[in-house]
Amino acid sequence: MSVLEIRNVTKAFSTTRAVDDFNLTVGDGELVCLLGPSGSGKSTLLRMIGGFETPTSGLISIDGDDVTRVPPERRPTGMVFQSHALWTHMNVFKNLAFGLKLRRLPEAEIKRKVEAVLDLVGLGGYGTRMTTQLSGGQQQRVALARSLVLEPKILLLDEPFASLDQHLRERLREEVRDIQQRLKITTLFVTHGQDEALALADRIVVMRDGRTEQIARPDVVYREPETPFVAGFIGTMNLIEGAVLGGKFDHVGFAVPLPVSDGPATLAVRPEALEIVPAPDSAAKIHRVTDYGTHAVVDIDLPDGVRLKAMTPDARLWQAGQPVALKPRAFAAYRDNALLHRSN
Ligand code: ADP
Repeated sequence: MSVLEIRNVTKAFSTTRAVDDFNLTVGDGELVCLLGPSGSGKSTLLRMIGGFETPTSGLISIDGDDVTRVPPERRPTGMVFQSHALWTHMNVFKNLAFGLKLRRLPEAEIKRKVEAVLDLVGLGGYGTRMTTQLSGGQQQRVALARSLVLEPKILLLDEPFASLDQHLRERLREEVRDIQQRLKITTLFVTHGQDEALALADRIVVMRDGRTEQIARPDVVYREPETPFVAGFIGTMNLIEGAVLGGKFDHVGFAVPLPVSDGPATLAVRPEALEIVPAPDSAAKIHRVTDYGTHAVVDIDLPDGVRLKAMTPDARLWQAGQPVALKPRAFAAYRDNALLHRSN
C-alpha cells in the first residue's frame, strides 16, 4: 500500500512560483502523468517529491508519513532522470548492486535481486557488460532497473525517454507500463508529450504555470477538456475566438447556435468533429487538402486569416479555393478560462 499525498505545495525561486499551491493524491499502484509545456513546473514538483528540492510551503507525505524535509536517500522513492548518469567505470551488475551494498545486504541476496530486476527490464545476462557498451535504450533500462532494485514505494520518472528516438520511446513506454502494472508500484511520470501521457497514464495532471488545469483519466482529458488551454494542448483542436449574441456564436465566416448568455466565447472543435459541405456563397475557403490515404486533412481559411482543420474520409472530394460551410458535429465553448457549454 503506497499512497502519495501532495498538499498545498508551493516552490518559489526568487520571483518565480515554479509550483503554486499544488494538490494531488496518487493512489496505491496508480500511474499518474504530469503533462504540461516546458516551464510549467513538472520537474520541480517531481524533484520535491524525490527530495532534491524543498518546498517553500506545503506538505508531502507517503503512506501518511511526512517526508517534506527528508533527504532523498532516506525517502522511499526511486527517481529516473532524463540523463541516466550511470557509472561508466562499473559494469551493469555493479551499477545495480551499489545501492544494495550500501544497505549491507548479503552478497547472495544482492545477486538474486539484481538478476531478477535485470530479467524484469529485459536485460537478463547483461550483468557483466560495461554501461558504455550499451545502446541508449539499454542504458535507460539499466537506469530504471537501478531504481527498481531498491524496491521504492514510489517510482518517479522525469522524461526518462526524451533523448531516445520515437520508435524506441514507444517501445520503452509500453515496457514501463507492463513493469509498473506487474509490480503495482505507485508511479509519477513527467512528460511534455501528450501521446506518452495518453498511452501510459491512469490519470493525467495537465499543468500550466505551476498549477493544475485538469486532473482526469486520459479519455476524459481528451474528450472533455475543462479549459481552453487543455483543449488546445491535448491533440489537434480548432480554437475560434468570437462573441455570443442572442443564442448564436459568431466569428466572421463561421456561426453556430450556442444557448448561453451574450458575451465573448472561445469555441473548440476537433478536426474529426468539423464537417465541411460545399457552399458557393461561403466566405470560408479551402486552403489546402492533405491526403493521408486513410483520411484527408483539409485546411480552411476564414476571411480574417484564422485557419481551421477538418478531417474527412476522402481527399478527392475537395480542392484548394473551394468555398465551404463549416458544421461542427461536437464542440465546447469556453469563457474566462472555464467551460460554458458542451455539445456532443
Ligand atoms: P518543467 O519541468 O515543466 O519544464 P520546471 O519545473 O523545470 O518546469 O520549471 C518551472 C519554472 O521554475 C520555470 O520558470 C523555471 O525557469 C523555474 N526554475 C526551475 N528550477 C529553477 C531554479 N533552480 N532556479 C530558478 N528558477 C527555476
